[in-house]
Amino acid sequence: MTIEVQTPTENPRVHLPGDPNPSKDILGGKGYGLAVMHQLKLPVPAFFTIGTDVCRKYLENPEQGLPEELQTEVLNALRTIEESAKKKFGDPNNPLLVSVRSGAKDSMPGMMDTVLNLGLNDDTVKEIAKKMGDRFALDTYRRFIQLYGSVVLNIDKEQFSKRFDEIKKENGISEDSGLGLAELTQVVVDFKTIVNDSTGVPFPQDANVQLEEAIKAVFNSWDSERAIRYRKENKIDNNLGTAVNIQEMKFGNIDEGSGTGVLFTRNPNTGENELYGNFLQNAQGEDVVAGIRNTLSIEDLKSLMPDIYEQLKGFAELLEAHFGDPQDIEFTIQNGELFLLQTRSAKRSAKAAVRIAHSYVEEMRITREQAISRLTPQHINQLFHPMFDPEEMEKAKNEGRLLTTGTAGSPGAATGIAVFDSKTAEMLAAQGIDVILIRDFTEAEDVSGMYASKGILTARGGPSSHAAVVARGHGTPAVIGASDIEFDENMGVIRINGKEIKQGDKISIDGSTGEVFLGDFKLILPDKISNIHGLTDILSWADKIARLKVWTNADTPSDSRRARDFGAIGVGLDRSEHMFFDDARLKVFRDLILTPREDNRYQSLLEEIKEIQRSDFEGILKEMDGFPVVIRLLDPPLHEFLPNQIDLIAEIAKLKEQRRNKQGRFASLSEEERVERDSKVKQAQELLDAVVQLAETNPMLGLRGARLGISRPEIYDIQIRAVLEAASKLKKEGSNPKPKIMIPLITGARELEVFKKRFETISKETGANVECKFGSMIEVPSAASASEISKIVGLVDFISFGTNDLTQLILGLSRDDAARKITPEYIEMGLFDEDPFVTLHPDVKNAIQIAVEAARAVKPDIEIGICGEHGADPASIKFFNDVGFDYISLSPYSVPSSRLATAQAVLAL
Ligand code: ADP
Ligand code: MG
Ligand code: MG
Repeated sequence: MTIEVQTPTENPRVHLPGDPNPSKDILGGKGYGLAVMHQLKLPVPAFFTIGTDVCRKYLENPEQGLPEELQTEVLNALRTIEESAKKKFGDPNNPLLVSVRSGAKDSMPGMMDTVLNLGLNDDTVKEIAKKMGDRFALDTYRRFIQLYGSVVLNIDKEQFSKRFDEIKKENGISEDSGLGLAELTQVVVDFKTIVNDSTGVPFPQDANVQLEEAIKAVFNSWDSERAIRYRKENKIDNNLGTAVNIQEMKFGNIDEGSGTGVLFTRNPNTGENELYGNFLQNAQGEDVVAGIRNTLSIEDLKSLMPDIYEQLKGFAELLEAHFGDPQDIEFTIQNGELFLLQTRSAKRSAKAAVRIAHSYVEEMRITREQAISRLTPQHINQLFHPMFDPEEMEKAKNEGRLLTTGTAGSPGAATGIAVFDSKTAEMLAAQGIDVILIRDFTEAEDVSGMYASKGILTARGGPSSHAAVVARGHGTPAVIGASDIEFDENMGVIRINGKEIKQGDKISIDGSTGEVFLGDFKLILPDKISNIHGLTDILSWADKIARLKVWTNADTPSDSRRARDFGAIGVGLDRSEHMFFDDARLKVFRDLILTPREDNRYQSLLEEIKEIQRSDFEGILKEMDGFPVVIRLLDPPLHEFLPNQIDLIAEIAKLKEQRRNKQGRFASLSEEERVERDSKVKQAQELLDAVVQLAETNPMLGLRGARLGISRPEIYDIQIRAVLEAASKLKKEGSNPKPKIMIPLITGARELEVFKKRFETISKETGANVECKFGSMIEVPSAASASEISKIVGLVDFISFGTNDLTQLILGLSRDDAARKITPEYIEMGLFDEDPFVTLHPDVKNAIQIAVEAARAVKPDIEIGICGEHGADPASIKFFNDVGFDYISLSPYSVPSSRLATAQAVLAL
């Protein structure tokens, strides 16, 4: 039979394979992958694609249905499938069945709908039965009614599965495969009744009607609640629409020589160059992904169907080479014949992403620059995911707290309370509670709950199950397929190996090992770049490209060491006040604050503090030998070192109330006891007086930073001495210390001059034999103004932008409260594009740019850095690079990702 295909219109709505330049925008990712595989002459079941543009048009006005011309084009295109399949759609004598598959430009796994086995009805099923067996036909028919019923007719899936389980129970059958023809017939009849009862009309028998309705349903699934939520989370444009792929069905569920599976061309967890994936014999479509049955691995395929395995291997290599990226391939085997159904770039763990990028350079597939551009700073950050303290873990095992071991689904460790449904998980997480979501298996409806959770644990599913894919994509630790878990959801209890766990109990999972523990753990961060295959090389390539230097914010020698291991080449911010957070030291510092300056003890307390600081500075300078260390003089207001006012008032009240004797009876106090109490009250009262004295209504705008340095010059003096003495000592010992002193919260040059003079005087007095640079923070808008900064740079060797305070003061926005109270609404309403304390606000950028230009105009070689939180934000890093900063400084754990980001900032120019 010859078919008449109409000449395509100028703007075709329907796309047959064969276009030499397929467009992903129009065909969607799935349609594009199919088109390419067709071009490469790979075995793809016959198909055609309805473009995303049609979806956009349709969704403007869904009530109007599909346009007339589209229906004609679809029917024409269908003829080409019929010709290739040698079957006819809706023909009771030789029926063609098709799948109607969604597929947007960006992969949105499981978010939209797909209908399989379309074209079955009471007549065609008979013919299918004749050709492929009664069992197969009935089983396929019941799957179709259920899928069509839920996806197209919006009937609750549960209705079908409930009835299905009932029939099994009524007949004493436990496995699906145990269903006989009589039972399957019953299932089909009952499913049709469910459809009739729910919709008021019988299950549609006309294949063309089924097709039209399925296309509309797939279009509509673009706007489903879960798809919209997913796009919001993943920043995908809401207006793109989905394509629809209509494809000849191949059957993986005919016999044991058939099957269906998923194949990754490289291991998506480790990045190793090996085939990875799983498959099921005698199964169709979703069975593998849903994790309903336990799957076999691709290795098993090698022994079960060696020919198929070899073919797949060849196709995998071809596709990976063609796309220049590891692929995630869906396949079906019908009666010993292999078909490819989908290919796309494989989602991978951060570790795998690094290893693959590195291997690709070694295999000469890409350049070093490309390898760097393919990774994201988030990838690198994920590698420094929390893990459990190994000692604590060992102990837990000895105590019998290891509940079970499942499959490592997504790396990282997490601790939280057990929650058994996604809605509750979402709700609790919104209150700031750490939750571990525990499900039998997950599906699309679970995604927002999964995103909100710290960790995910499932009883069923393999490494390519929904749970694992979503978790890896989002960087959430997950353990999957922990089959020892027994659910009793109604009672809010699960059992793992006999141990009962209630909703709300503490539980911990390790997504890197698959282990599940009772109770909680301390989380620690791994700290070795060399433990991650390929990362040392990639970051050293990045360092060669980068212009910005990556320094770190470190307050202790151990922080500095970690940052050095991560590749930091300087300390951009050592907050000198953090050295007083230890109790014994805090006491000395409090004494200083409470002792009147005229008191004799004042001087000796100062001396004591200087000694403490000197040894601290020595520790850091030693750790950072040969690298610059910027020490910022005391910044916070003094009352921050004293106890809280309300606590003190309560304490005094309690002391005064103290009338109980040792037996717990009310009694008058003995003389001795009274004296003791009175002295305690006096002490507390003195503290309280001091706190009240020092308290400020607006401490952020008060006596802190340089202002404190002006009012208590002796504190800054001893800090400067401590730095110089520490450096001198090290120098004498043969080290190469590079200290830099930085004054915080400077408002202008006149203020800075005071400090400059003292710095010079003390330098002379100490006769230090080391060079110590002198600099100013720029964090108050007045200091950042063009006129002021040009005077400031005349006084300093370097300036460092404190972007937290600068943002706070430019926007008049409290850095401590905005994220809770203001920012979310501002973002929601489009008043902020991003949280200004995460990514630099345009007005702050503007101010910085003006300041940098003015500073460089006066002193071209002035060293310029940043030490605020923005230093670790890739978008802000791009800005610092473009404006010509010399260095960024950020927390030790952000050093590796920022090394990548600094190179990317250059490459993206
Ligand atoms: P998703 O986007 O959710 O992966 P798909 O359109 O890929 O949805 O369909 C899901 C599964 O259904 C596929 O992985 C495949 O196993 C099966 N499937 C889809 N189309 C066909 C077909 N023409 N023949 C056989 N199986 C199919
Ligand atoms: Mg798919
Ligand atoms: Mg500051």
